Parts: sequence; C-alpha cells; structure tokens
Amino acid sequence: MAATCTHLDSVRVTELPASVDGCVDCLAAGTKWLHLRICLECGHVGCCDDSPEHHATAHAGSSSHPIIRSLEPGEDWSWCFPDELAMRLPEVRGETRIPPSPLGIEWGLG
Ligand SMILES: [Zn+2]
Ligand SMILES: [Zn+2]
Ligand SMILES: [Zn+2]
Repeated sequence: MAATCTHLDSVRVTELPASVDGCVDCLAAGTKWLHLRICLECGHVGCCDDSPEHHATAHAGSSSHPIIRSLEPGEDWSWCFPDELAMRLPEVRGETRIPPSPLGIEWGLG
C-alpha cells in the first residue's frame, strides 16, 4: 500500500524565498541551528531535528502546520509530520540562499 499525504491542501508556499537569514526562532533566541526547514503553510523558517532547538518540529507541533521542506542546497524533499512521510512536491519551486550554519562552522563543517 502506497502511503499518500492527505495534507497537500495546506501547502500555501509554492515559491520559496530567494534568501533567508536563518532559523527565525534561533535568531530571536541567540541559539544555533544546523539545517534549515521551511513550513509550507506559513513560510516559517525553523531548524532541523539535528539542531539543538528543533524549531521546525516545534513550529509544526504548536501551529499544526503539517508539511516542511528542506532549504538546504541540493535538497528538495518535503516531510509531512502527521503522516511521517517524505515526498517531493514539484509544485514548490525556487531555490533559497541560506547563510552558513553557525553550528556547522563551530563543528568545522561549514
Ligand atoms: Zn500529510
Ligand atoms: Zn532554530
Ligand atoms: Zn507554519
């Protein structure tokens, strides 16, 4: 049985921003992120689950916005939290310029 996402109606961000400054919650709190994800319902930019603060997951939990997309260069996957399903959404276009990860720099990865 092929899993399908039933939340595609909530995708409102179909054009990715040209650039972002980083995880908005980390920037506000002074914390550090590793990878960036964008909420496809409202455009909130948060950090991944490998980041200490898990802001993308926290946003999905507090807002009930179901789907995020990776903003990392070369990554075009999306993730539905309620379905726990990875997928590609061809209707979401564009490529976002992101700053180097503060944690990546700290770890010598950037
Ligand atoms: Zn879904
Ligand atoms: Zn963050
Ligand atoms: Zn959102």
